[in-house]
Amino acid sequence: MRHTELPFTGPATFLKAPYRPLSEPWIADVGFLGLPYDFAVGYRPGARFAPGALREASGRYAPGPEGYFDLETETYCLQGVSLVDAGDVDPAQLEYQETFHRITEAARALRQRVRLPVFVGGDHSVTYPVLRAYDDLEALHVVQLDAHLDFSDSRNATRYANSSPFRRAVEDVPGLNITVIGLRGLRTSSEAYRAARERGHTLVTAAKVRANLPWVLERLPRGQKVYVSFDADAPDPSILPGTSSPEAEGLTYGEAIAVVRQTIEQNELLGLDLVELAPNLDPSGLSSLVGARLLAEVLAVWGSTTAL
Ligand code: MN
Ligand code: MN
Repeated sequence: MRHTELPFTGPATFLKAPYRPLSEPWIADVGFLGLPYDFAVGYRPGARFAPGALREASGRYAPGPEGYFDLETETYCLQGVSLVDAGDVDPAQLEYQETFHRITEAARALRQRVRLPVFVGGDHSVTYPVLRAYDDLEALHVVQLDAHLDFSDSRNATRYANSSPFRRAVEDVPGLNITVIGLRGLRTSSEAYRAARERGHTLVTAAKVRANLPWVLERLPRGQKVYVSFDADAPDPSILPGTSSPEAEGLTYGEAIAVVRQTIEQNELLGLDLVELAPNLDPSGLSSLVGARLLAEVLAVWGSTTAL
């Protein structure tokens, strides 16, 4: 009956999936976990409100029991795929170590329940404790869509802010490689850039995406276990203004989806996050709707390319 409900009818859960906390036993194909933590933001806060706002906005994109009808292939996708909203990790406010511990434990538990865990931040600092839950793998390739590198060793004596999650992750998680798409921050740390290059990371600017998208798609990983980390500031702020540190000249929605689609089609997707969406910074609600649409479309791509 849920599929007949209007977009704004509740209770609000991700894509109107049933709510099942991790304290209960269940398994599903896809599990959503909210990480409403933004105490590591260096500029404008608000990403803590994203899991709630995306639950509300995603009612607009709740799939029916037959899934989504794909206009390109004229077939249904996500048919019979089970979705669960596993609720939120409760942040311990200023105790970032405790918060990160809770996030890692919840992410480990979610990975055991579902084929595709979807983490909804929160600022980008949460990706570090999420990636710690993947430390059992020999190798994992992170495809990060982001205006910023987030690979600073420290800034202002701070090592766990949203500008450092991937620096901390490569120190703790074995076998990590990283491809970043959409770079254009004006204040890029040259130390961080060099350190990422020296580790063999693939760093692609937004200008490169605009100039030659096929060239960029050629450089994505192939045949690997992958994790997609999607920062809401990767797309152009004209379509997604609700983010802490917007940077002009970003990706179009279509370019971002093309990168994610190619990544999913030629690799094994083991996890996904959407971070840095601050709904309070966009009173029009557009950012939350675009973010919810993005989550729904990535699931559709995953569902149509993954044998379930
Ligand atoms: Mn980021
Ligand atoms: Mn960013």
